[in-house]
Amino acid sequence: MIHSSAPKLQQESWQKTLANAVKDPAELIKLLDLPASLLPKAIAASKNFPLRVTRCYINRIIPGDTEDPLLLQVLPLHQENNPQPGFVTDPVEDLSSTIVPGLIHKYFGRVLLTVTGACAIHCRYCFRRHFPYHENNPTANNWLQAISYITDNSSISEVILSGGDPLVLNDHRLATLCRQLAQISHLKRIRIHSRIPVIAPQRVTEGLLDWIGNSRIKIILVIHSNHKNEIDPEVGEALMKLNSAGVTVLNQSVLLRKINDNPNDLCDLNTRLFEYSVLPYYLHLLDRVAGAAHFEVSRDKAIKIIKVMRARLPGYLVPRLAWEEPGKANKTIIR
Ligand SMILES: *Cc1c(COP(=O)(O)O)cnc(C)c1O
Ligand code: SF4
Repeated sequence: MIHSSAPKLQQESWQKTLANAVKDPAELIKLLDLPASLLPKAIAASKNFPLRVTRCYINRIIPGDTEDPLLLQVLPLHQENNPQPGFVTDPVEDLSSTIVPGLIHKYFGRVLLTVTGACAIHCRYCFRRHFPYHENNPTANNWLQAISYITDNSSISEVILSGGDPLVLNDHRLATLCRQLAQISHLKRIRIHSRIPVIAPQRVTEGLLDWIGNSRIKIILVIHSNHKNEIDPEVGEALMKLNSAGVTVLNQSVLLRKINDNPNDLCDLNTRLFEYSVLPYYLHLLDRVAGAAHFEVSRDKAIKIIKVMRARLPGYLVPRLAWEEPGKANKTIIR
């Protein structure tokens, strides 16, 4: 069902939406009517990884509810400063597979290009929480080096644009990069991993739809949503526009304690997304990054959740439960 009463996307430019993000814990606590006692801890935890959240995302959070599943993804909490054994700063060990700055060739046939270090939101559980300041990503100046590596390797059929969030870059830069990639004849697909359609649906402009919809090679967009409350009618409208432009849109989620660690919420999320033609891709176990231990869900519980989902939903609405085993050449599918 398409929400026909969906309001028009806000007129505010997406650049403004990103620039006006809330970064001050005191402001977030005030906007959402939260207890002032949370403030000192939020300030302390945000020293390691600053708060950042767009106002349109804040509008989807229920005021006064300290357990809101969207709030818990963005509010810095005191648990972040309790070190836990096994939770480290670089859990994924990507640095060892870097070929040219920003280009990781670890998986057969696919290369990952980190085109920016910046994000529109800071998710407290993110494995990148220890390097958010690398915003002047060297790749920005080294796309030519990356492009020549891909050109010289005919086994590469897919380029994955990642970050950070690639959609913080403007359409001119993204369109130019995609046009250059599309000239490589052995390249069949460009995949973009972005949380922005969910965090700032204003980003899905005519300008974006123009280059993304008219690319010579297939474009896949993997969005990142963890809870149905993130998918409001504006996000839905943006997702439908991407679908109408011919983009294959998939969703990945991270399994997060007290946020989405039950089959009901995950069934609702995947059902809601499919109203906008989005299919599930991965449900990730948390990367064991320092400061995020309080979000971890055990593997046994994850398997139980997936089993219930499989019993309730058609197969195509059940994501693959996966995790990133450090040092392994590809993601491990559990179910
Ligand atoms: C996740 C990942 C990919 C893509 O893996 P898929 O299973 O195709 O989604 C590629 N390269 C790196 C370094 C990754 O971490
Ligand atoms: S990389 Fe993705 S999960 Fe991590 S902070 Fe950015 S948007 Fe959030």
